[in-house]
Amino acid sequence: MAGAEELHVFWEEGMLKHETGRGVFDTGSDPGFLDVLENHPENADRVRNMVSILKRGPIAPFVSWHQGRPASVSELLSFHSSEYIKELEEADRAGGKMMCCGTFLNPGSWNAALLAAGTTLSAMKYILDGHGKIAYALVRPPGHHAQPTQADGYCFLNNAGLAVQLALDEGFRKVAVIDIDVHYGNGTAEGFYRSNKVLTISLHMNHGSWGPSHPQSGTHDELGEGDGFGYNTNIPLPNGSGDRAYMYAMQELVVPAVQKFGPDMIVLVVGQDSSAFDPNGRQCLTMDGYRQVACIVRGLADTHCKGKLLVVQEGGYHITYAAYCLHATLEGALNLPSPLLSDPIAYYPEDEGFAVKVIDAMKEYYKSNAPFLKEIN
Ligand SMILES: [Zn+2]
Repeated sequence: MAGAEELHVFWEEGMLKHETGRGVFDTGSDPGFLDVLENHPENADRVRNMVSILKRGPIAPFVSWHQGRPASVSELLSFHSSEYIKELEEADRAGGKMMCCGTFLNPGSWNAALLAAGTTLSAMKYILDGHGKIAYALVRPPGHHAQPTQADGYCFLNNAGLAVQLALDEGFRKVAVIDIDVHYGNGTAEGFYRSNKVLTISLHMNHGSWGPSHPQSGTHDELGEGDGFGYNTNIPLPNGSGDRAYMYAMQELVVPAVQKFGPDMIVLVVGQDSSAFDPNGRQCLTMDGYRQVACIVRGLADTHCKGKLLVVQEGGYHITYAAYCLHATLEGALNLPSPLLSDPIAYYPEDEGFAVKVIDAMKEYYKSNAPFLKEIN
């Protein structure tokens, strides 16, 4: 379509074959007290709606569809240890395994995980080869909790992390990752914790560690180590933070940090579980917030990266609203002049004052403690 960038969506329907089961929320278990159980939140229906809204929603004319593909095991070793990959392969051969709390590798799951990783790599490669500027990897199972050596939080393989490493391996100097899933992108942070070539920024609710699969706290003092010291920027936002708090965090912290870092590639890691109605999140973004955040990220990509921007799908568990928020996010990434799709549920009250104080305090902390952020305004 004239006047706007094309959105290259990478997708493969085999990812729908990852079955996560039913139970009491994400436990996979039925203690017998309830007449009606529910689907695991990370189910195929949520992604079916994401596919359909991009095919039938008003953004459809801007979208071109590309076939995804499975990753090879050798590709996975750029981010994950061979021991961990063997563990996953053995779990698949054995017919399934609960890798950690709520994270079920069932028959079909391993193939879906390979498709998610390979499809994200294809989306990144498309940009690296100069075929397009803005690509979106529509993938599941999600990836940003998967660490080099272990699964976590519904994630087996770190799709975004693999794509970031591919960009570095193909000669890109610096990659900035901006993760707005409501949970800490601990796996991606862990993978690049000792690197000054990858700036990992995560905006999330302040959920802390959740056990052995997720030892990281997501707090501001996890700054990175060695060469990577200062290049992991955690922005835990108070529960209830919404559009205005996220915009304030973007303007006060994320934009100055990315400007200072000067990446030549940006990866926007998006989860719609930061929406006001998500069962897994306690934040209050609406479609408008997603649209604005993505628009800011697009501006950073235009300024620093010749418009190159990879968007990678993570969580987002409200079966209908997550799809609407995805549509809004991608409208923002395309920098469309006015909203294409109105918000069916929109407003949610937000206690902005407290979030602003927290963000101001975090900014001061980063200016004092992260060497490369000393001089941000
Ligand atoms: Zn999440």
